[in-house]
Amino acid sequence: MVSIKSKSDIEKMLEAGKIAAEALNTVEKKLHPGMTTKDIDKIVHQVITSHGATPNFLGLYGFPASACVSVNEEVIHGIPGSRRLNDGDIVSVDLGACYKGWNSDTCYTFPVGNVKPDVLKLLEDTNASLYAAIEAAQVGARLGDISHTVEEYCRSRGYGIVQNYCGHGIGKEVHEDPEVPNHGRAGHGMRLVEGMTICIEPMINMQGDGVHTMPNKWTVVTDNGCMSAHFEHMILITANGPVIMTKR
Ligand code: MG
Repeated sequence: MVSIKSKSDIEKMLEAGKIAAEALNTVEKKLHPGMTTKDIDKIVHQVITSHGATPNFLGLYGFPASACVSVNEEVIHGIPGSRRLNDGDIVSVDLGACYKGWNSDTCYTFPVGNVKPDVLKLLEDTNASLYAAIEAAQVGARLGDISHTVEEYCRSRGYGIVQNYCGHGIGKEVHEDPEVPNHGRAGHGMRLVEGMTICIEPMINMQGDGVHTMPNKWTVVTDNGCMSAHFEHMILITANGPVIMTKR
């Protein structure tokens, strides 16, 4: 069931969104080659808890950390640990805060040091596909319009699209209905109405759609070992157009 949020629900979600955005900003400021993915997780935990919020990924379905930190060929659900970031890596940091019972969820893929131009372009294009999809999230549009926008934007540039995972509704739960896939047909699916809150999150591979889960049962990687980017915002649907609730 898709839940419609009241004004007071939205106020708390905006606060949760702000805290999550600040966590990403802090990670970006402190990011450097040589740090571990666990170092990033510590920063995220510190920022979120310093605002009286809780890191909502911690314990979610049993996940053992406050952020999913995925490096290079890791697509999503990277478990923070001893892996060190090298110059030229990319790292996606996916996180969320729960504030007064209401959730946020956002992700950004950062370049570490000097990253090759084609990889930087992957990041730029994946982020641009997110913003194009956000623009499609208008009252009266359909979910398929969002999905199709991501797919069209990324396919036309030759990238692979991860199809086994998708965006989602969000509110009192981190993952609510509806599912928001990164591929689909324009003009199809549920109509967007005012007060819906959804996460749009393109997961885009340099080439090829295929991904699989590592033996740790969490980390999803590309089948061919190519780089993968992931960007996510939490969006409120309004009569005046989409509002980015996790704006940095
Ligand atoms: Mg999400």
